[in-house]
Amino acid sequence: MGATDAFRSFEFEDPKRAASEFNAACRRARPEDHEGYSGTIAEFEGCQLDTWTSPFENSDAAAEHILDKHEKYDDAIGVRFYLPVKLTDAKKKRIEKLFRKVETIRSKLREARTKARVAVVNAKSATIGCKKCGSKVARKYVGMTTNDGAKITLPCPVCAADLFSLTVATRVAAMLAKVHAAEKELRDAKTPKSSQKVGWLIGGWAAE
Ligand SMILES: [Zn+2]
Repeated sequence: MGATDAFRSFEFEDPKRAASEFNAACRRARPEDHEGYSGTIAEFEGCQLDTWTSPFENSDAAAEHILDKHEKYDDAIGVRFYLPVKLTDAKKKRIEKLFRKVETIRSKLREARTKARVAVVNAKSATIGCKKCGSKVARKYVGMTTNDGAKITLPCPVCAADLFSLTVATRVAAMLAKVHAAEKELRDAKTPKSSQKVGWLIGGWAAE
């Protein structure tokens, strides 16, 4: 028999109220016939709230701690964590804007790569030199036009680098760096900040 993690969180600091609301939620989760509630909080008979450990930075850290300490069939464990700051409308707009920024730069990067491939396929020389490892590669093996007209460029067969010209490769690398920077900005904006308010996370491993 396995076990799955099951939790309830409470957005207030009073431990007695948290314990009693948790126990009530467990009772409500148990159907009359006692069937089909495995792997849910219905498995917990009660809970032990840890009031001495300092609040965790967020509910993920609290969950990790609980699952580390908890054994299935034991009472659920509760620890405190700092509640996330609610997203303001301004913040939501900023996230939306960053999301569009990422999309725009990604599509520019796609265009630049397509153009670079076309340039490789359409170039006139019989061989193409890899700017990374110095290999000379026959163009017909790395640049081709498919039946439906699409230009395909294979990477260098020796070192797997893109066979773009130095200028293009530099531009593509710069765009890729921009994409990564914008993605990081978006990730950071989406990560909820912790507030000074504390709540409870209660749960553990529920037998299945
Ligand atoms: Zn190479």
